[in-house]
Amino acid sequence: MSALRELYQEVILDHGKSPRNFGKPEGSNADAHGHNPLCGDTVTIHLKMDGDVIEDIGFEGRGCAISVASASMMTEILKGKTRAEAEDMFSRFHALVAPDASACEPGFDAPDLDKLVVLAGVREFPMRVKCATLAWHTFKAAA
Ligand code: ZN
Repeated sequence: MSALRELYQEVILDHGKSPRNFGKPEGSNADAHGHNPLCGDTVTIHLKMDGDVIEDIGFEGRGCAISVASASMMTEILKGKTRAEAEDMFSRFHALVAPDASACEPGFDAPDLDKLVVLAGVREFPMRVKCATLAWHTFKAAA
């Protein structure tokens, strides 16, 4: 039980209950819809791209606390980043949460990513990995 308790850390519950950047930003010009049938999570990612820069980002959807918290944290982190920076963060995040990628060390030297470490607990729960990565995959489809 302790691992599960850790998984549902306060920060996840907080983001799950009060998601940041929820909704469609004004002037958004790209979006994508994602669905995780294993859990029933759905998410739509809205982007306002300025050339290569994510000027604004928001999301809509519903799902479990993990999926909503992950989307919420992702929007906070990606706002203002370039596509290349976002790609880099996605691959680091994936290495953190996906058990099959645990062989390659994530190397968290980017301060922005520190907060995502709370989601690393999902790697113990393969069913939950899709919840945690849904928003990121959907972001990639939109960007
Ligand atoms: Zn879920």
